[in-house]
Amino acid sequence: MDARKLARFDHAEHLLACPVCGSALTRGGQRLCCPKGHSFDIARQGYANLLRGGHKHQDYDRASFAMRRRVFQSGLYDAIAQAVATAAEETVAHLDETCRASAAAAPAIVDAGCGEGFFSRAVRAATMAPLCAFDISRDSIQLAAATNPDDATIWLVADLAAIPVQDSRAACVLDIFSPANYREFTRILAAGGRIVKAIPTARHLEEIRQLASPHLKHDTYSNQRIIEHFERFCRIEQRRTVGTTLELDDDVRDALIAMTPMLFNVDAARIDWTSLTRATVEAEVMVGTVRSRNQPCRN
Ligand SMILES: [Zn+2]
Repeated sequence: MDARKLARFDHAEHLLACPVCGSALTRGGQRLCCPKGHSFDIARQGYANLLRGGHKHQDYDRASFAMRRRVFQSGLYDAIAQAVATAAEETVAHLDETCRASAAAAPAIVDAGCGEGFFSRAVRAATMAPLCAFDISRDSIQLAAATNPDDATIWLVADLAAIPVQDSRAACVLDIFSPANYREFTRILAAGGRIVKAIPTARHLEEIRQLASPHLKHDTYSNQRIIEHFERFCRIEQRRTVGTTLELDDDVRDALIAMTPMLFNVDAARIDWTSLTRATVEAEVMVGTVRSRNQPCRN
């Protein structure tokens, strides 16, 4: 196996926890092992699958992640990625001493639900901080790990409900267009660490929503409930709305239609998309500090 891909896991013992028993995981050859004998293969693409049992991710598949990658390459999400990267950079730069002391030697960033890694790469490039990015979809992690240019990110297939990271090790958790588990985020965050969260606004993909509205259960979208939930667990330190509208070529338009969760339960072939020539993406990017480390919650 490519030694550089294996080397991604050389610092695992400061960050990763065995998903079975919670002990630290270290690399031994081409595996991650804990002192109690649980072990996990490192795949040749340079990721480790830490899921046990028959998890199956239903919403996405390999083709969908390839479509997502094509859309990301179009530049449509660049402004949001930049805002997320800046927020992560500021979080790492302004960590207080308590956080530095309780986190690992170098404060790590954990990307929860990273998909094919677009935002992880942007954050790594901006911060150069150690990064651990995971998703429950093996297809997405394979894609991310195989094409990761800098070999400094730990890519994992893992479950949001049992994040394989040691207690109080993360300086920053990224939660970008992805579900949250605040109980787990709180557990892995070092004191003073922060969550950077991005969620769609009502304007996000409004052109698609408009054309698809006769087929949608809800033809308007509000992120209010998600923000209220976030605020219940975090004090919001920063909040900004960021987005872009871009002209779409046919290729990117088709990929965007194929990857959009809004259309997962819609027969997109029944909709005339010819008038979809531009698309708006817009997100609320929030930075929060966890309010209480003893409050259990998930969402
Ligand atoms: Zn173990």
